[in-house]
Amino acid sequence: MLAKQDSLPTTNHEVLILGTGLAGMAAALAARQAGAAPFVIDKAPETSKSGNTRFSGGGLRCPSEEHTIDSLLEELERMSDGRTDMRLARILYRDAESGVNWLRELGIPIVSPSVERPDVRGGRMRYHIRGNGYGLVDALFPKLGKAGIAVQFQTKAIELLTSGTGQVVGARVNTPEGCVDMLARAVILATGGFQANTAMRVQYLGREAGDLLVRGSKYDTGEGLRMALRLGAQSYGDWGGFHSAVLDARSAQVEAGETNVNTYPYTIIVNKNGERFLDEGEDFMDTTYVKYGKAILQQPGRIAYCLFDAKIAERDLVYCLHREFEPIDAGSWERLAQKIRVPADRLRQTIDSFNAAVQPGEFDPERRDGKSTRGIYPPKSNWAVPLDTPPFFAYPVTGGITFTLGGLRVDDRARVLDTEDHAIPGLYAAGELLGGFFYNNYPGGASLMRSLVFGRLAGAEAAGFASRK
Ligand SMILES: Cc1cc2nc3c(=O)[nH]c(=O)nc-3n(C[C@H](O)[C@H](O)[C@H](O)COP(=O)(O)OP(=O)(O)OC[C@H]3O[C@@H](n4cnc5c(N)ncnc54)[C@H](O)[C@@H]3O)c2cc1C
Repeated sequence: MLAKQDSLPTTNHEVLILGTGLAGMAAALAARQAGAAPFVIDKAPETSKSGNTRFSGGGLRCPSEEHTIDSLLEELERMSDGRTDMRLARILYRDAESGVNWLRELGIPIVSPSVERPDVRGGRMRYHIRGNGYGLVDALFPKLGKAGIAVQFQTKAIELLTSGTGQVVGARVNTPEGCVDMLARAVILATGGFQANTAMRVQYLGREAGDLLVRGSKYDTGEGLRMALRLGAQSYGDWGGFHSAVLDARSAQVEAGETNVNTYPYTIIVNKNGERFLDEGEDFMDTTYVKYGKAILQQPGRIAYCLFDAKIAERDLVYCLHREFEPIDAGSWERLAQKIRVPADRLRQTIDSFNAAVQPGEFDPERRDGKSTRGIYPPKSNWAVPLDTPPFFAYPVTGGITFTLGGLRVDDRARVLDTEDHAIPGLYAAGELLGGFFYNNYPGGASLMRSLVFGRLAGAEAAGFASRK
C-alpha cells in the first residue's frame, strides 16, 4: 500500500480499470453507459490484449427454460460440494441473460454452440460466440474506442494508491516511459488469475503445479490479487484449486489455447500402464472435463491416451480442437501400443475386458444414451461401444492450467471486501480474480459469464461511486 509520491508524474481519471479481458471491457462500457469517463490500462502490448478472454472457447453458460436458474445453482452447489457462495452465484445466473442481450445489442455474434462447436454438444453451454475468444475480442474491443474510452497498453499496475482514510485513489503503474501515479475516483481490478505465475502456482497450488502447461495468457500473473491482498482485501474461495481440461499432450507450454480433446466421452482413456482410471462417459464433457484434466495430471508421466476405433473415427466424433494434432493410428492394438509406448499385453487385457463389459443398446452421441458397461471398474456410464474395428486410434492427452479458482471476495455490488467484511472504499473487482464461485470442479461456460456479469456490475457501481465524490 502506497501513498502518492510527489516526485512521480500523475494523471487523473474518473474510473480506472485494470485489464482488457471481458471483465475489463464490460466494466469500461458499463461505466461509460452510466455516465462516467473510464480509462483502461493493460500491461500487455496491444497485440496480446484481452488476456485469457482472447484464448477462450467462447462458450457461455446461461439459464434457459430447460435449465433454470435454480437448476444451474443446484449444479454449482453439487459440483462444489456445497462450497459455492450462493449469493454471488445467484447474481451470476440472474444477470446472465441480460448480459447476453447487452452483448447482442453491441453487435457481438452470439449463436448456439451447435453452429461452430459440436464438441460441446449436450451440455448446458447455451451460447457460443462466433470465432471463439478471438471473435469476441475482435467484435468487442473496437466498441471501447467508439464509446470514447481510452486504452493504454504496456502499462502495468504495480501498487494501489490509498488516501489517509484508506480509500483507494488510484494505481501506480510502470510504462515504457517510467513510473506514473494514475489517480482515480474509483479503481476496478480485472487482471485475471495467477495461473501464468510459476512462483505463485507453487506457493498456492503445490510443487507439482510449477511446470503445468498454461493454456491462456502469459500476462495473467496475479499482480491484481497481490496488490489487493497487500491492502487488506479478503482472500476467498479455492486458493489451492485450478481449472484444467483434457488437452492434447503435444500442446505448447504457454498460450496453447483451445487444444482440447473435448470429445473424450466417445473414447476410453488409459494411462501409460494401459489401465483405465475414470468413467469417460459419466456425463457430457462440460461437467467432467475440468476434473478429468486434473485426474490425468495424477497419472504416471501426467499422460493418458484417448482410444477409439474406425467406427467412431468414420463419424468424425473424436478430434482435437487444434485440428493439426492428428491421432496416432495403427492396424492392430499391439502396433498402437508400441507406437504410444504402452505395454501391449496390459492394453490388450483392458480392451478385451472393456469390450466384454459393453451392454447392448443404441449408441447416441447427442444424448446421455445410457449405453454402459457392466462388471468392470471404473464403469463407463454412457456411450460405451466395443473397440473392435481397425484401424485403431489414440490421442495423447494431458492436463494443464486454464485459470486459478481462488480470488478476492466481493459483495453484491462488486465492491472488494476487507478481512473484516467491510467494503474497501473505491475498490471494485470483476472476472477471473474473484473467489467463491468454483471449487475443484467447474461447469463449462461459467467463467466468461462471470466476467461479463460482474464486469458490468463493477462498471456501473464504480461509475456511481465516482459521481458521488
Ligand atoms: C484456452 C481457454 C479456453 C477457455 N474457454 C472458455 C469458455 O469457452 N467459456 C468460459 O466461460 N471460459 C473459458 N475460459 C476462461 C475465460 O476465458 C476466462 O476465465 C475469462 O476470459 C477471464 O476474463 P477476465 O477479464 O477476468 O481476465 P482476462 O481475460 O485474463 O484479462 C485479464 C487482463 O489483465 C491484464 N493484466 C494482468 N495483470 C495486469 C497488471 N498488473 N496491470 C495491468 N493489466 C494487467 C492482462 O494482460 C489481461 O489482458 C477459457 C480460458 C482459456 C485459457
